[in-house]
Amino acid sequence: ILKLMNVGKSFHKQVVLKNIHLTVQRGEVTVILGPSGCGKSTLLRCLNGLELIDEGSIRFNELELTPKGRQWQAVRERIGMVFQSYHLFPHMKVIDNILLGPLKVQKRSKAEALAQAEELLERIGLLDKRDSYPRELSGGQQQRIAIVRALCMNPEVMLFDEVTAALDPEMVKEVLEVMLQLAREGMTMIIVTHEMGFARAVADRIVFMDKGSIIEQGNPKSFFSEPQTDRAKRFLQQFY
Ligand code: ATP
Ligand code: MG
Repeated sequence: ILKLMNVGKSFHKQVVLKNIHLTVQRGEVTVILGPSGCGKSTLLRCLNGLELIDEGSIRFNELELTPKGRQWQAVRERIGMVFQSYHLFPHMKVIDNILLGPLKVQKRSKAEALAQAEELLERIGLLDKRDSYPRELSGGQQQRIAIVRALCMNPEVMLFDEVTAALDPEMVKEVLEVMLQLAREGMTMIIVTHEMGFARAVADRIVFMDKGSIIEQGNPKSFFSEPQTDRAKRFLQQFY
């Protein structure tokens, strides 16, 4: 579903991503790990066009995205992203936050989008919050709403950038649970996380980055039990 070929990205003169080759199959869950500043967020942002790449290309289904391409708008609608901070609009009710994209961007009918939004809310157990404002919800609830908001656009791929990093520990689990459920339903997902237990449980593949490059990738079992590089070994040690 996604294929990155020799992707590179610099900010001013600082190289942030270099020679990134990565293939993601439909239905696969890829977890990206690596030290702070290695380029994980930048990579996700490049994948849905929030940042433009300056080298290489990204193939998304039939679309070929290059540094000069102009097809990013189409991609943004089809690849959903959830961030560390929730980015819900504070002055809008939960339901209006969720419906904004489907109605304004996708121009869908209100009845149809509303039915889907309510079904998604029901599934995460927050239908009773549909008319609440974000400030009336806990952090974990807001983050689950942010996930539903992205899902309501019917994306083909979901990107998650440290979505539990800002949450109190007791709220982390309810958010990870929603992501696990999505993975079981076959959603194609690329996840950046520092929750190693979760990474191991959810991933089909682990991608380990350092200094803007992918230096190791493999199945979670072998990555966690026998990391190949010293850099990955040292990275994992800090969690045990
Ligand atoms: P963390 O684990 O701390 O979130 P990360 O792996 O997500 O780190 P990135 O946020 O992708 O790292 O940043 C990679 C590098 O790119 C960093 O050195 C950062 O300072 C730089 N960088 C990121 N965004 C920008 C920007 N908009 N302008 C300039 N430099 C940036
Ligand atoms: Mg980051």
